[in-house]
Amino acid sequence: MSINERPALSDLISSNLGYPRIGGNREWKKALERFWNGSIDESELHSEMKRLRLEHLSKQQDKGIDLIPVGDFSYYDHMLDTSVMFGLVPERFNYRPAGPVPLSVYFGIARGQKGATASEMTKWLNTNYHYIVPELANAAPVLTENKPLQAYREAKQELGIEGKPVLIGPYSFVALSKGYDRKDLATIVRSFLPLYTRVLSELAAEGVQWVQIDEPVLTTLFPAEDLDIIQEAYETLTQAAPALNIMLQTYFGSLEHYKHLSTLPVQGLGLDFVHDDGENLQHVLQHGFPAGKTLGAGVVDGRNIWRSDLKAVAALLSQLAEQTSPTQLIVQPSCSLLHVPVSLEAEQKLDIELVHALAFADEKLEEIAALTAALGERNPSALAQVEQSADAVARFNSSAARVQTATDMAALLAKEPQSRSVPFAQRRAIQQDKLKLPPLPTTTIGSFPQTAEIRKARLQYRKGEWSAEQYRTFIQQQIKEWIDIQEEIGIDVLVHGEFERTDMVEFFGEKLKGFAFTQNGWVQSYGSRCVKPPIIYGDVLFDQPMTVEETAFAQSLTSKPVKGMLTGPVTILNWSFERNDIPRSQVALQLALALRAEVEALEQAGIGMIQVDEPAIREGLPLKKEQQQAYLDWAVQAFLVTTATVEPATQIHTHMCYSEFQHMIQSISDMDADVISIETSRSHGELIVSFEDQVYDKGIGLGVYDIHSPRIPDVAEMLSMIQRALRVLPSDLFWVNPDCGLKTRTKEESIAALRQMVLAAQAARDALAVSN
Ligand code: GLN
Ligand code: ZN
Repeated sequence: MSINERPALSDLISSNLGYPRIGGNREWKKALERFWNGSIDESELHSEMKRLRLEHLSKQQDKGIDLIPVGDFSYYDHMLDTSVMFGLVPERFNYRPAGPVPLSVYFGIARGQKGATASEMTKWLNTNYHYIVPELANAAPVLTENKPLQAYREAKQELGIEGKPVLIGPYSFVALSKGYDRKDLATIVRSFLPLYTRVLSELAAEGVQWVQIDEPVLTTLFPAEDLDIIQEAYETLTQAAPALNIMLQTYFGSLEHYKHLSTLPVQGLGLDFVHDDGENLQHVLQHGFPAGKTLGAGVVDGRNIWRSDLKAVAALLSQLAEQTSPTQLIVQPSCSLLHVPVSLEAEQKLDIELVHALAFADEKLEEIAALTAALGERNPSALAQVEQSADAVARFNSSAARVQTATDMAALLAKEPQSRSVPFAQRRAIQQDKLKLPPLPTTTIGSFPQTAEIRKARLQYRKGEWSAEQYRTFIQQQIKEWIDIQEEIGIDVLVHGEFERTDMVEFFGEKLKGFAFTQNGWVQSYGSRCVKPPIIYGDVLFDQPMTVEETAFAQSLTSKPVKGMLTGPVTILNWSFERNDIPRSQVALQLALALRAEVEALEQAGIGMIQVDEPAIREGLPLKKEQQQAYLDWAVQAFLVTTATVEPATQIHTHMCYSEFQHMIQSISDMDADVISIETSRSHGELIVSFEDQVYDKGIGLGVYDIHSPRIPDVAEMLSMIQRALRVLPSDLFWVNPDCGLKTRTKEESIAALRQMVLAAQAARDALAVSN
């Protein structure tokens, strides 16, 4: 049955869950940064923000979206907006909220200010967006202003839009905060309910029809005993504003406890039908959908950049309609569009075949509008759009760039070594014999300062103003300068400095096959910081050596070992938009095979130590416990495939940072790297503590100082860090290094800090010699 023959879904309406705030040309970022550096004043900032906010609303209206979110716009982060709305200003800011929190305090919490450090920032569920973690210690929540109401009024007055205010729900807000004992969660959620009640009753009094309350934590494995407080919260909210329709919105996975939560006393339930592994649909089919409730069907992928096959989506919607009839169905993205770039319009350089296979935020809204029109009103041009999308997706999936995948990865892998030829203990003896490193060897993580001069040189080369030869000479000068510096400071294992790299993923993506780069595909990472993730569109293949020339050049200048440096398969995958026609695990293995060619090329060029960075390995961990092991298994396998074929004498390093690794020590150990350098200075030793009851028996360097701070650490503080670590880790396996690369520091800061670090290592060696 084609969609022409199906009965029309007359009640269908379209909705959006959130729109990117950064602007088509990152106007938002630019305005913020100009305000922070004093180039514009507060009123100029407000008027630019308002202009953008209204522009984004009009755009959604023009695209034909019926329910347009309001209040999702932010000056920094939506969690922080909620915190200040509830008067949650940490004590160190010396500010007692009475009325709206001023912008200076708001940005102070986000970015730190004199005498008060910023609030912690952490990843928003399993995305690369970072939110400001609300601090609930000693909190006395008060409603300082009704932000969703203001947003609703503005949209109505300025544009005549009947907006849908968006709020973070009380359960997720508290669950994603810190500064309280988990056992007090219910009490704390309860303490916020009067505030929510007031916000909602004011919205109802204003005539608001739909409000979207986001509860993304309901798709994670939350404790079942929380169900009672969730139930209580929504009973309270619904009673407070019976005239209002509450859309309880979930995303990033399937709703847990479907049977229970689908019956919460709210008018609508929003489910993600894209990133749910089919579970939401299965639950709806198995348990039904409560009569009278509206289903917000998240059917267009809100976090990846691929165009939808609208014919397949239409079929899914029809299936859902049968289950939910006669209730209302809303067509919407799987989550806020905050996670994808704004528009394809600016992309002039991408291959046209690829462009036809992509959809950014604006194009996703068009997809939603077309689906709604095609299924609901039988609009012929919308029907044609649905058909076209299916053709475009099918054409792209069978294009030359993608079909090579047909090779069976499992069969291919069966032939590949996935473990080193001899076990660690033996390798260690062989390596030590060859390398003759002192106890507690010192090294760095890879990058040295990316000065203005270096960035300018790269740009000149990119623009063609510099010849390849000119650029090569420049990079070689930088490498030579830093090899000399490292030798002079007395570091044991040197690096070339990564001066030729803009970004640790982009650099490799540009040299491997299967990647594409947008001109303007920015997404917000945190605050005003935006990233432009590469697109993995096809099979990833090795083309030619990527790091050999610089590394071999560096090694030719010194008799000390130079560590080769590359980004690992899982990190490249997690920091890219990945293709969605084959499993992630398969993309990771393709990357692994391609990077292995680089590892082998380095070894052949005489490089005896190779570091494969995996800082983002933890980020891809699924939200659901039962899926985590499978992820860890293929992530570890990808690392092993990348590194396993080198000689026993070749030392493999890896590096990880800025995530909580204490629960995955076993998997890290299974990666079988000869040495790992891992960050600890920010998590204040939580990782060290975890080695008290978990054995780690391979080479390990716990970062002895925080590279994010311009402060020069002193010898005593690093020495005590080393000695604390040596209480739980064997001294003959311990390395001394900073906790991450030094690219964001100045030359002077880096040299001063490294000098102190070498002194600290020397002091620790002396102390060891005495105690032996
Ligand atoms: N080798 C990289 C560097 O030093 C590692 C960066 C990272 O961990 N994010 O810059
Ligand atoms: Zn790092």
